[in-house]
Amino acid sequence: MAESPQRQRGGKLTPMLAQYLELKSQHPDAVLLFRMGDFYETFFEDAELLSRVAGVTLTSRDARSEHPVPLAGVPYHALDTYLHRLLGHGLTVAICEQVEDPALAKGLVKREVVEIISPGTATAPELLGEASSVYCLAYLPATAAPAAQARKASKATTAQKARGTTVAGWALLDASTGEFRCGQEEVALRDLCERYPVREVIIGENTAAEDLRQWRKALPELVINPVSATWFHPAFAARTLQDHFQVKQLTAFGLAEEDRSAAVAAAGALLRYLGSLNLARPAQVATLRFAAREDRLLLDEETLRNLEVFRTFRGETKTGTLVHHVDTTCTAMGRRLLERRLAEPLTEIAELKRWHEGVAAAITARDWRTELRGILDEIGDLDRLAARAASGRIGPAQLVRLGRSLTAVVRFGAAVLADGRGGHPLCDWATELPDLAAVASGIAEGLQDEAPAKLRQGGVMRPGVDNELDQCRNIAADTKGFLAGLQNQERAATGISTLKIGYNKVFGYYFEVTNKHLDKVPEHYVQKQTLVNACRYHTDQLKEAEDKILAAEERAEELEKRLYTELVAAVGEKVAEIYAASRLCASSDLLLAFATLAEQRNYCQPECDDGLGLHILQGRHPVIEQLLDSDFIPNDTLFDGEQNQLLLLTGPNMGGKSTYLRQVALIVLLAQAGSFVPATSARVGVADRIFTRVGASDNLARGESTFYTEMSETAHILHQMSRRSLVVLDEIGRGTSTYDGLSLAWAITEYLVDSRGPRPRTVFATHYHELTELEASLAGLINLKMAVREWEGKIIFLHAVKAGRSDKSYGIHVARLAGIPAAVLRRAEVILSQLTLADRRGGLGSGTELDPGTASAPAGGASLAADTDLAREVRKAGVGLGGQQLSLFSDGERDALDALRDLDLDRISPVDAFMWLVKIRSQLPDK
Ligand code: ATP
Repeated sequence: MAESPQRQRGGKLTPMLAQYLELKSQHPDAVLLFRMGDFYETFFEDAELLSRVAGVTLTSRDARSEHPVPLAGVPYHALDTYLHRLLGHGLTVAICEQVEDPALAKGLVKREVVEIISPGTATAPELLGEASSVYCLAYLPATAAPAAQARKASKATTAQKARGTTVAGWALLDASTGEFRCGQEEVALRDLCERYPVREVIIGENTAAEDLRQWRKALPELVINPVSATWFHPAFAARTLQDHFQVKQLTAFGLAEEDRSAAVAAAGALLRYLGSLNLARPAQVATLRFAAREDRLLLDEETLRNLEVFRTFRGETKTGTLVHHVDTTCTAMGRRLLERRLAEPLTEIAELKRWHEGVAAAITARDWRTELRGILDEIGDLDRLAARAASGRIGPAQLVRLGRSLTAVVRFGAAVLADGRGGHPLCDWATELPDLAAVASGIAEGLQDEAPAKLRQGGVMRPGVDNELDQCRNIAADTKGFLAGLQNQERAATGISTLKIGYNKVFGYYFEVTNKHLDKVPEHYVQKQTLVNACRYHTDQLKEAEDKILAAEERAEELEKRLYTELVAAVGEKVAEIYAASRLCASSDLLLAFATLAEQRNYCQPECDDGLGLHILQGRHPVIEQLLDSDFIPNDTLFDGEQNQLLLLTGPNMGGKSTYLRQVALIVLLAQAGSFVPATSARVGVADRIFTRVGASDNLARGESTFYTEMSETAHILHQMSRRSLVVLDEIGRGTSTYDGLSLAWAITEYLVDSRGPRPRTVFATHYHELTELEASLAGLINLKMAVREWEGKIIFLHAVKAGRSDKSYGIHVARLAGIPAAVLRRAEVILSQLTLADRRGGLGSGTELDPGTASAPAGGASLAADTDLAREVRKAGVGLGGQQLSLFSDGERDALDALRDLDLDRISPVDAFMWLVKIRSQLPDK
């Protein structure tokens, strides 16, 4: 029966369309690719979607009927291309195959959905591309229910208590590698998505619609799929995990404690989700790790973004990002570990010491390192290959790759140990390597060296693996040889010199005779097919040979399939060992990569301790130093936890303030990632968190203004920081009027050094030069400035950090460099001098007369009116915020005061004193 999805007259469905709709109803949320011969077809709304998203022509079956069926199809061999597009648009795809041979089918061909792929759970190498992890994230937001409520309901079940959790539960799964971990902490969905390369998020379908709307708005590039809320129920989730890992309790995963139920809920839901897509137990997931919050240095979304760890401000993922410029790993596993280390650096001092000492030893052992990295280069992506093997979806060529990689792993282990460097982390890891030699040789001995990508291409197993397979192959080959002889024999017998034997799928083997010789065709030739120029025949002898060949080939195919499947299953059973080897290789690769990086870039070994100091000598910015054409100017940093607690950095625009701030944070981050650092020496009191607040950027997507964003980021820091944190502030209060901003910046500075507060190590860059006054009164605050030299009317940026404060921002100079028109610059200079003068006379709020053009000038004009009240108040009271004297002095006055302070009254003669007074008086501006 010819298949057609058409409706029959009277609106009745054809059997095939009924079959399609039945399958579609089982997977309503997925685009169903329905295999029909050499095409995957889609119907109805799926067809319209495919056409819109993948640019496939939309046609329709039964176009003239009253109810035409929209149809769009893609050739089966181009499936990967279209899957890429569909997944890239955040769609989930269900692949439906013909599960019986159409030639043998009685009636409608049987079809089944064999695989469902969602954007975050794809495992095929063609769909994954880069070595980076691809995570699907399950997120259970903290509920508002406070602990008090849970306490009241003393009889509440574990599950009920868990629902009142004030921390969010999360789980991450990379389906392509089987990596699976979970955690619970106060963390926003956005932070997790910035920290890890997440492609898809699942949440309970009972999540508040408003939350969902906000997340979708804030994370437009992510697919957020609501799934059954039951999957997130802690008891149900725990059961899912127990069933999967075949355990009675979750103790081994660090999840037995009752208060870990948010993490359990997320992990269970995620595994359940993957199971629902795989249509089978996700065998590649061999273990689960609970990530305790205390074990890592926390970096929130803003910090990762501001430090451009994984993405630049422009969204690029390569040049300009930290990860790109410090990556010298050889393997995909090493690269992924590097990404993880940068997202969640270590905090344990012993562990950090072990890494740093290991890197130091590997730098000295150059030959050893080079040899080992050479072997690592031969190791493919063990995680992804093993995951494919565990799920039974690995192709022969990939299995060969896995086999070779495992052989290299065995060689790697031996090479590490051969050198006799006992005590080196690499040796410890090598001794832990599971013995994978048997798996490696099993693959090498079973598969042909050049095995094809797909099993159905044949020629997969090596000769000698199976007697029967060899026999079948021999029969097929011999018979083909026999056919070659037969061709010559028939040519001689018939006198048709051009007679040839051919083969096609429909008619099998045939003799082909061109029209010119048809009269010579013998009687016993049976005609099979007529072409324009020739005719095709068979004979009993030919038929017999054909049957022999086909039977042998069919049997060989069957045997090969069985042998291959057995081999894959045997490898799949070793998946836990392969993962363990992969982890050890990843660590070894990263350690050797850090050594190579340190050697290439002249990094030094940091010394990590549990103090609150941070001493960096000649520190450099690891990325900028790579991008600059000129030399990078190194700078020192000194925090001692007491006297030097807040470094207030002033200096001209373009002076290098932002670079310096980030460099300090990146050096700490790299040190705690286990790497050496760009400096000549570094002692790092281990940080628990790094916070950054950089520049003014609005978050219109979240409906937040520039200033609101600035303040909410600052609020977050002030609430979360601890004594061990490193806080990096690049401007505070610039998004509002001058005096509002200054007041806030002033108060925040006081708060940061307040002896009653946590007093985190802080670097604060600002153009509010007034804040430098605070050095005199606030213990722990140190003024630093970016040195600059004025020479022949030009400014030379020295990019050197010096003690002291800066008086000017040279904003107009930088505007000139940036190409602002000369007329605007001239006008700005006039306005600046008038504003400065007005300020010296007692402020703009007390009836200052400006040049008529100035009032509407953009240089601060808009905000000055709003400032007047505050300015007047402050001046009237003569007292600054927090009891400090707010600086009302102009630059000249401040210099005069400084000079007066420095004057040595015991030594100065009366004449010199008079001369000094005259000089100082001449420097003071007129009233
Ligand atoms: P603004 O106040 O305008 O934000 P800034 O003081 O923060 O400026 P940066 O953005 O840090 O200045 O630096 C400006 C440029 O100066 C950098 O892009 C870099 O090219 C160069 N630069 C900064 N620091 C150094 C350094 N230590 N050595 C060499 N060049 C540097």
